Amino acid sequence: MKSYLLSEYLVQVDGDRCTLCLACVVQCTYGVFSHNRESRGLSVRSEKCVNCHRCVIFCPVQAIAVVKNPTAYRENFYWAEKTIRATVSQAEKGGILLAGMGCDTSMPVYWDKLLLNASQVTNPSIDPLREPVELRTYLGSKPDRLEVCDSGDGPVLETAIAPQLTLETPILFAAMSYGAISLEAQEALAQAALEFRTLFNAGEGGLHKRLYPYGGRCIVQVASARFGVHIDYLNAAAGIEVKIGQGAKPGIGGHLPGEKVTREVSETRMIPEGTDALSPAPHHDIYSIEDLRQLIYALKEATDYVKPVFVKIAAVHNSAAIASGIVRAGADAVVIDGMRGATGAAPLVVRDNVGIPLELALAAVDQRLRDEGIRNRASIIVGGGIRNSADVVKAIALGADAVYIGTAALVAMGCSLCQKCYTGKCPWGIATTDLEISKRLSPDTASRRLINLLQAWSLEIKMMLGGMGMNSVESLRGNRLHLRGVGLTEGELKVLGVKMAGE
Ligand code: SF4
Ligand code: SF4
Repeated sequence: MKSYLLSEYLVQVDGDRCTLCLACVVQCTYGVFSHNRESRGLSVRSEKCVNCHRCVIFCPVQAIAVVKNPTAYRENFYWAEKTIRATVSQAEKGGILLAGMGCDTSMPVYWDKLLLNASQVTNPSIDPLREPVELRTYLGSKPDRLEVCDSGDGPVLETAIAPQLTLETPILFAAMSYGAISLEAQEALAQAALEFRTLFNAGEGGLHKRLYPYGGRCIVQVASARFGVHIDYLNAAAGIEVKIGQGAKPGIGGHLPGEKVTREVSETRMIPEGTDALSPAPHHDIYSIEDLRQLIYALKEATDYVKPVFVKIAAVHNSAAIASGIVRAGADAVVIDGMRGATGAAPLVVRDNVGIPLELALAAVDQRLRDEGIRNRASIIVGGGIRNSADVVKAIALGADAVYIGTAALVAMGCSLCQKCYTGKCPWGIATTDLEISKRLSPDTASRRLINLLQAWSLEIKMMLGGMGMNSVESLRGNRLHLRGVGLTEGELKVLGVKMAGE
């Protein structure tokens, strides 16, 4: 069938600059460029281009430009180009459309409608260059009260404290499995987490044996398919996360195509090489909070009660009630993944239409746990659309203990948000298991970029905290008086629990 889809981008090569070095032929994994031996020039097939920027950046003489195709589809506010493309694609393929990364629609971004406070005259601000501002964060269940006795040699804490994870910044790397991303990308996250004393999350694909030395800085997942879950895997990690849902695709399972299941991926996931890795939508042993409690305590029992167990859910309509149940089931942290959360592959229709914005879910969950007097029993970690240090600070003011970053971490490593992760051809060596392509990503270089990002954000967080007159991140946690809303309805302000700017 002849395709009616028009090229989304036009790849332009400046003939005066091009030296025919063929770097673009090597760098483009989508086969856009080829060397035409007869004309001794470049052949360019723009219709294959996904605008990943790889050739543009690696062309040594800056001869390449990728531009939006001006004649692709005429402007139409209602029938946007994305909608027309989806319709044409489905008419030609007859299947569910896949997309990578997170929801990119014009849904309100509440982070941008929330503003932070700053001290003026009273409660003077703190200059973090001259005074310490503490970002250390402890994740895990906190007791209702502390019992202290006098041993004669001074006070001794009698209350048993649940296992805690200590981070030097309230930022963790989000779950990204080996298979969805390359081993090199996962190793870069692991190295950066180790050096910056934060945590990375191995996702639902097991833990490759090369990454066991980083286990002390790793959260391992137990997801519906139980890929790669065994006792050594659980014991190797700092903490365990039961994954119930994911912000990019709430309510559905996952699918790693067989061609991405290489020998090493298959060994790590404990499935046959080349077979599709299908995660069921539900855990087949969890149909109630009581079932979830059994799994949480089975994991704690298996690991001698020395590791915190998190439970991750997608941000959905009744997140607050679900979070309450999760805390009562014995989880040490509730993880909420917002609808902007990214993934290697999700049905486009689900990615862009299911779930709710993280900001609203976070505010509702924190408030519910406070109202029920159980907020101390579990940390709240949020992810799914955290773009910069301001989002981190606002999330903490709304009630989060820490945030997960996924897309920002990938962008730091080179990702250009082309959203084609599901093809397995990521030219940056990130979302691929192709052994040749993944070699493009040096874990050492990528981890340096990640560490720089964490350092930059941490400095900015200290600056914003100091500006509010606070010397620790702990003082801001759930302190919504330091937030004001602009351009929000009364209903939105109410859910967010913040006052309007000027009030
Ligand atoms: S897909 Fe990427 S590397 Fe290939 S032509 Fe387009 S921008 Fe360049
Ligand atoms: S990880 Fe790779 S394939 Fe995915 S959006 Fe980023 S550049 Fe594109």
